[in-house]
Amino acid sequence: MSRARVIVLNSALGPLDYRVPHGMAVEPGSIVVAPLGPRQLIGVVWEADRLATEEVGDNRLRNLMAVADAPPIPAPLRRLIEWTADYYLAPLASVLRMALSSTSALEGGKTIIEYRATGEVPGRLTPQREQALDRIGDRQGLIRELAAIADVSDGVIRGLVKVGAIEGVSVDLDTPYPVPDPNFAPPDLSSVQADVASILRQAIGAEAFQPFLLDGVTGSGKTEVYFEAVAAALAAGKQSLVLLPEIALTEPFLKRFHARFGTEPIPWHSGLRQSQRRRAWRAIASGEALVTVGARSSLFLPYPKLGLIVIDEAHETSFKQEEGVHYHARDVAVMRGRFERCPVILASATPAIETRQQVALGRYEELKLPARYGAAEMPAIEAIDLLAEQPPRGRWLAPRLVKAIEATLERKEQALLFLNRRGYAPLTLCRTCGHRFQCPNCTAWMVEHRLIARLACHHCGHTLPTPRACPECDSEDSLVACGPGVERIADEVAALFPEAKTAVVTSDTIWSPAKAAEFVNRMEAGDIDIVVGTQLVTKGYHFPNLTLVGVVDADLGLEGGDLRAAERSFQQICQVAGRAGRGEKPGTVLIQTHSPKAPVMRALVSGDADSFYAAETEARREAGAPPFGRFAAIIVSSEDKDAALETARAVGRAAPQVEAMQVFGPAPAPLAMLRGRHRFRLLVHARRALDVQDVIREWLGALEWPARVRVVVDVDPYNF
Ligand code: ADP
Repeated sequence: MSRARVIVLNSALGPLDYRVPHGMAVEPGSIVVAPLGPRQLIGVVWEADRLATEEVGDNRLRNLMAVADAPPIPAPLRRLIEWTADYYLAPLASVLRMALSSTSALEGGKTIIEYRATGEVPGRLTPQREQALDRIGDRQGLIRELAAIADVSDGVIRGLVKVGAIEGVSVDLDTPYPVPDPNFAPPDLSSVQADVASILRQAIGAEAFQPFLLDGVTGSGKTEVYFEAVAAALAAGKQSLVLLPEIALTEPFLKRFHARFGTEPIPWHSGLRQSQRRRAWRAIASGEALVTVGARSSLFLPYPKLGLIVIDEAHETSFKQEEGVHYHARDVAVMRGRFERCPVILASATPAIETRQQVALGRYEELKLPARYGAAEMPAIEAIDLLAEQPPRGRWLAPRLVKAIEATLERKEQALLFLNRRGYAPLTLCRTCGHRFQCPNCTAWMVEHRLIARLACHHCGHTLPTPRACPECDSEDSLVACGPGVERIADEVAALFPEAKTAVVTSDTIWSPAKAAEFVNRMEAGDIDIVVGTQLVTKGYHFPNLTLVGVVDADLGLEGGDLRAAERSFQQICQVAGRAGRGEKPGTVLIQTHSPKAPVMRALVSGDADSFYAAETEARREAGAPPFGRFAAIIVSSEDKDAALETARAVGRAAPQVEAMQVFGPAPAPLAMLRGRHRFRLLVHARRALDVQDVIREWLGALEWPARVRVVVDVDPYNF
């Protein structure tokens, strides 16, 4: 008779012991159903051993109830889960949950019932039902998914089922996915590309952990080259995982992958329907799904035979998870490669300083693609000094940029204006009394969104209709929009170029894969002349007729004094500049700035990335900042401000005296209030050699927390 030590999901408790009943076989990794109080919870067996004779009769141990019909969590993933929990100071159960995605992935059978419109509308429908049907269109999903699409209650959808306008269909979750063909349409690689590809192919064959930095300018064919590594893994029957920083990028990626391999890979991200999720999880866990493309959460899926991990745009800060388990997908990916004994490719045109440092230390092998593929040249980059060349009053585009747009339109080419700010204006102000609209739940201004006629908080999602009068002094017509967002730039463009076809591209307008596909099609068909967009347009797209990029406010990213501000600005502007001139026509990039002499602007204009990085790296070394030293943030939050501050002070008082470590604070966190919670932060700065997690674990473990106070540790934080 044996005992199983189980990590139970949805429970704050540590591993729990259970008895394995007669006739049930479990092993480490088995997914089981375990009783906890009156509940039945999903868990994973972490250890299994025989019960000692005297324990057999011990009836304090409860019996496990069932073993799920799914393969056990493989050993390398169990090690990754332990490493992640340990390094990021997170509960094992929270990390494990990501591996099981939603526990519903395991519930129920091999089919699921979804609903869709029948196309028949019996008799007359209420306007609400009619509108719901209209919004649903030809989409399919669970009742609650359709209700969310149509923005109605579940009851409305059920009503439509009753009258026969919507019907249930059974979806088979074990329908096999088509298999990508490594030989479907292999490219003719340039000789540099071929050299790099052959190193990667060899690494796949070696079946050993090997991290690579694939460092190539935008348009040099990084994707094309790592596809060769994917092809080699496919040919060897191994699974590959490609991580993308943003869901919006999956759509163009799927298309490209299809062109190369004859079928699409399996996408994994938060936008999947329940049926898609369950089907993908099963196919990944069984090893049938050979290529997965996903957001960072796909890193924790139970691939039984992983042979390659690619992190595309590896410098992107969106790989840093800021909720729940605070982890950095780039670092976790490298650890997973280590445990799986497989190569890991970090692809980037502007690698992070942390990654460059790994190369300098000889830990990662750097593979370079120094030039754009084919006839395409790197674009010419110029700065526009906004102090010398001011836009007219109330406008944001300098005369030189406007002229350049005009010339681009005359040549029947496309232009992109980049401003990393959604909405119309970031701040609304009363001219009479000075009132500013602030979010009631967060330390943030309300952003005006003219397209939906509301003010919105970009942190908690709180919105209100755009007011006509000031709520403070009641004056009418006294509210002014301050500063530009993309919608305002689009207005300016429309006024300057009334004939041009303009598109605004932000997460407000491109909120689904279908919308992204529609945008790509319109660009390719020449149905858009000028794109105004946020960082959403800076990545992944390849539009050969796009020849002008204008950066509306290059100084935006430099505000705030963040440790990585200059580096991030450099990366972002390189990235958007990389959209210009990707085909045969040469590209131009104009950067509007108030500080053309700032090192980052000079580096962009001169193209001298190396000296910029060298200077940034040196500054980090002097400050003991990452990658030379380490930070960890301890965030104490509560709806009760005094309770949060009191607790944060107690944490500060209990800080251990450790030579290689300094503790700053508590001070209000960068977002002092977020979603109604007051936040205070202690910042721990430590030397690299110190096991800072161990210190923090012991330090915080000895404290007791008042009810309603939450404490979160962010190891290697990104928000300063
Ligand atoms: P990166 O990922 O470095 O930005 P891509 O892989 O997207 O570069 O390549 C840029 C463009 O050049 C794409 O349209 C790609 O299809 C094309 N390209 C790159 N290498 C080749 C090649 N060997 N043969 C044909 N087209 C290529």
